[in-house]
Amino acid sequence: MNPKLSKRVQSLPPYPFADLDRKKVELRKQGKDLIDLSIGDPDIPTPQPIIAAMQKAVTNAEYHRYPPYSGTVAFRESVIRWYKRRFGVSLTLEETLALIGSKEGIANIHYAFVNPGDVVLCPTPGYPVYSVAAQFAGGEPYFLPLRHDRAFLPDLNSIPDSVLKRAKLLHLNYPNNPTAAVATEAFFKEVVAFAQKHNIIVCHDAPYTEIYFDNKKPISFLQTPGAKEVGIEFHSLSKTFNMTGWRLGFACGHKDVIAGLAKIKTNVDSGPFAAIQEAGVFSLDHEEGLTPSIRKEYQVRRDTLVTALKKLNFEVTAPPATFYIWMSVPKNTTATAFAAAILEKSSVVVTPGTAFGKAGEGYIRFALTASVERLKEAAERISIIRSW
Ligand SMILES: *Cc1c(COP(=O)(O)O)cnc(C)c1O
Repeated sequence: MNPKLSKRVQSLPPYPFADLDRKKVELRKQGKDLIDLSIGDPDIPTPQPIIAAMQKAVTNAEYHRYPPYSGTVAFRESVIRWYKRRFGVSLTLEETLALIGSKEGIANIHYAFVNPGDVVLCPTPGYPVYSVAAQFAGGEPYFLPLRHDRAFLPDLNSIPDSVLKRAKLLHLNYPNNPTAAVATEAFFKEVVAFAQKHNIIVCHDAPYTEIYFDNKKPISFLQTPGAKEVGIEFHSLSKTFNMTGWRLGFACGHKDVIAGLAKIKTNVDSGPFAAIQEAGVFSLDHEEGLTPSIRKEYQVRRDTLVTALKKLNFEVTAPPATFYIWMSVPKNTTATAFAAAILEKSSVVVTPGTAFGKAGEGYIRFALTASVERLKEAAERISIIRSW
């Protein structure tokens, strides 16, 4: 046999965390107590009532069989109810699709719509799945920088005509990982006009809409007039309900885009476990009761870390949403060097911005996925860097 990897896999960019992972293993071996703030995965367990709903659902023998390809009608109806309550957006069943986590749908969408040579517009820094999956499908990523001076919103007017002619799809993500920025109504309006003018499908990735602070609710792209005519929104139960391990998300929006994605999925998977979807119905129907305590915890953590970092004279602002802090590194250093120094001197793990693309240079990302006590200790340990 010949285990030589496909060109597709060989052309993958090098794994951005390889160096960091090696150092983590080494330090753990030396018995160091690491505080890991590099992982975008909630440390808080799934709320107990959701687990109870799952415990009940799992005994239903009907659910032990293949689920319906597009998701159960019950789950998709709960999505419709939640979008109406939360965003005031009306959806029909054919405008919804269950996903095995939203990452799955974000990757598969390219197989449905991207031909070799088509351009896929991707934010940078950004979630790596957009550009990698675009390339898997033969597409060419074109990167749109997210910069502080534009409030981390891409400049759609900066894209050359030659690129626009070949552009098929635009990925956006607000509230944003890793910059923690939120989108404005005006920006989404501009996106709709841009997509209409250039015939581009908009894929808005929105897993952090419920992780917000100070009662300022982020908006859905689909709230924008005309948005449903140009694209879809990906959503996930992962971050909203601390359910990353369960693998349940959904896509909603333009019915032809949903149908295209469903066509790929019917050929490669059979949808999420129906019992998980039933627990998903419970989650979405009780979202207003389940998420306040989750937000409250992140808000305390955010305020703890931001206050502590400010005391150390770092240039940092409190994020309006997400559980990330995107902080610029001191002038005389780089993202990787600074993250490496923090790890070596203080055994705190943060992500260098460059892990999300070259445009992440000059930044590090903290994930608020550790307790208040651990975050306080992390800041205390980082203070060593200041005297270093
Ligand atoms: C966490 C995350 C997702 C989704 O995760 P799933 O668990 O696959 O639903 C999607 N996009 C971004 C930017 C994320 O941070």
